[in-house]
Amino acid sequence: LEDEEMKTSEVQIFYKEEPECQNLSENSCPPSEVSHTHSPMKPRGYQLELALPAKNGKNTIICAPTGCGKTFVSLLICEHHLQKFPQGQKGKVVFFAVQVPVYEQQKSVFSKYFERRGYKVSGISGATAENVSVEQIIEDNDIIILTPQILVNSLKNGTVPSLSVFTLMIFDECHNTSKHHPYNMIMFNYLDQKLGGSSDSLPQVVGLTASVGVGDAKSTGEALEYICKLCASLDISVVATVKDNLEELEEVVYKPQKFFRKVESRTTDRFKCIISQLMKETESLAKSIFDTLGTITLGNFSQIQNRNFGTQKYEQWIVAVQKKCMVLKMPDKDEESRICKALFLYTSHLRKFNDALIISEHARMKDALDYLKDFFRNVRTAGFDETEQDLTRRFEEKLQELESISMDPSNENPKLKDLCFVLQEEYHLNPETRTILFVKTRALVDALKKWIEENPKLSFLKPGILTGRGRTKQNIGMTLPAQKDVLHTFKTSGDNKILIATSVADEGIDIAQCNLVILYEYVGNVIKMIQTRGRGRARGSKCFLLTSNSDVIEKEKINIYKEKMMNDSILRLQTWDEAVFKEKVRQIQIHEKFIRDSQSKVKPILDKENKKLLCRKCKAFACYTADIRVVEDCHYTVVGDAFKKCFVSKLHPKPKNFGSFEKKAKIFCARQDCCHDWGIHVKYKTFEIPFIKIESFVVEDIATGAQTLYAKWRDFHFEKLPFDAAEMPK
Ligand SMILES: [Zn+2]
Repeated sequence: LEDEEMKTSEVQIFYKEEPECQNLSENSCPPSEVSHTHSPMKPRGYQLELALPAKNGKNTIICAPTGCGKTFVSLLICEHHLQKFPQGQKGKVVFFAVQVPVYEQQKSVFSKYFERRGYKVSGISGATAENVSVEQIIEDNDIIILTPQILVNSLKNGTVPSLSVFTLMIFDECHNTSKHHPYNMIMFNYLDQKLGGSSDSLPQVVGLTASVGVGDAKSTGEALEYICKLCASLDISVVATVKDNLEELEEVVYKPQKFFRKVESRTTDRFKCIISQLMKETESLAKSIFDTLGTITLGNFSQIQNRNFGTQKYEQWIVAVQKKCMVLKMPDKDEESRICKALFLYTSHLRKFNDALIISEHARMKDALDYLKDFFRNVRTAGFDETEQDLTRRFEEKLQELESISMDPSNENPKLKDLCFVLQEEYHLNPETRTILFVKTRALVDALKKWIEENPKLSFLKPGILTGRGRTKQNIGMTLPAQKDVLHTFKTSGDNKILIATSVADEGIDIAQCNLVILYEYVGNVIKMIQTRGRGRARGSKCFLLTSNSDVIEKEKINIYKEKMMNDSILRLQTWDEAVFKEKVRQIQIHEKFIRDSQSKVKPILDKENKKLLCRKCKAFACYTADIRVVEDCHYTVVGDAFKKCFVSKLHPKPKNFGSFEKKAKIFCARQDCCHDWGIHVKYKTFEIPFIKIESFVVEDIATGAQTLYAKWRDFHFEKLPFDAAEMPK
């Protein structure tokens, strides 16, 4: 349901772009530590060691493993910082948390720790920002917990004039400070002030992370450069790691044993043969359309070569072809509409077949077949034109055979047998085992859940599901309360012994009882890997990597090597003279600022020429850009009666409020044989208006007929007129 995307404010847009760093609670502060922080607690030796440079006023990155109590370290630093001010002066601390669950947890930990000591603690997140004055909250409190976009917005609109209002800034998960992450936007502001020679004092900076990462580095030298760049972004002069109290740290943080298991794929795969045959047929149907066009062929339509069915590469190829098909231009407009629609359908079907092959590869054939049957059921209920009828008939001709193949026990996936074996073995050794199983895609989460539930050997596991809040083309993400529910059940219920998760739920889930992590055909970068390991908290915990692909094992070994490069680089960096390091950091900052300033001078050129918007699927005319109005900066509506005839709406099953809008319906292309999803219909103030999404349309230049595709409104630089209530019919 892509219309969900329309409610995204700036904060959420960022989350959508980086669905892989959903940070689910408690990472830097597992429950055991939380309870400690509520009562006076003696810090451990290594915690004092980590806190020392920051207590001495140095800008510090604190890099220590997940689960060692970095939150407690930040409480110590914060307390020391606030107390050091002489009578009559006051410090002000801001603590940033990237994800809402972390924000909520830190807010409660800081409140409990500091309110008894007479300090005022408050917080603002994306969810509460609309109803409060950010300025006032900052003014009235000593410690403010924020999601970073709040401060980015406040700096931009001037409600917070300068970072000088703070005396200490703490960045949780500070390795995110790069590119256009809100952390980096805050630090751009800081560095502009610092390098611009302002006389106002700047806050001290403290970053917390389990791993600074090394990016694409291939040598210790490159890794060192990467880490220096991160330090420059945060204006860091010290990287603090545990050195004097390593033994004590190792008693607290236990790294699970890691096992690699190379498993075999099916030797013969008739399911794959049949689907591949259907894909060949569909490809040649698409090709025959190109033959009638003459000059272009399907083959030279995309640069991607040597694609195989059932691969990520094929997916990329088909997406590229689909995009090109949408902007195909022909002299006869009816002909163009017919051809574009046929190509749209062929490519969509090819994509679904490709998905099914990937599901069958990692789960059961039955799951892949169910996925396809579901798709074809939906096809029937939408337009269902001649092309779709033809494709459905071709699928149905094979359906019987596919059904019987997928029921045949000899076609069972050997990888699943292996997974079953590992699970049986581990639960035999320790019936109290708690498992997190990571898989690549949302479709695989569903498939594996069903597999466990229907497998009599594993019926005792009662799987739960955990996915990120990010939304993809096929799936709506989980809501925050739903995520919390799942985690709560997993922690407290004796029945729910396994959680199946996608990579999107990746950063810092803390489940103390979890002692088995299984990565099923799953690889991540070095930061992810460390956090995956940190997750198997309990002693005697294990981590299995199960894959049929030796490249995956290879990649994982590279990740281990990267971790070693990272640790070596940090050790080397810590031997440098502080003045030398500061000077290096300064040089990087000056260079980066120069690049930033010269880039920002290139403003997009505004194209004031009126343009046509056509339905991306059938190319029917929808509206002119001159009729588009922008509502509250990020929503796009169309004025005038003509547009109302171009779409039909279907009532939304669950009308929803977001911000000042109420979502009432979904809207679709009015052409009966098209029904392409165009956006939503909302109630805004007293008006009932449509919100359209640009990714559903092709933009056509009226004079030249040139066609362009945009994924996001912000990439489309036309003259954007604001919505004006006076313009609307009464
Ligand atoms: Zn249409």
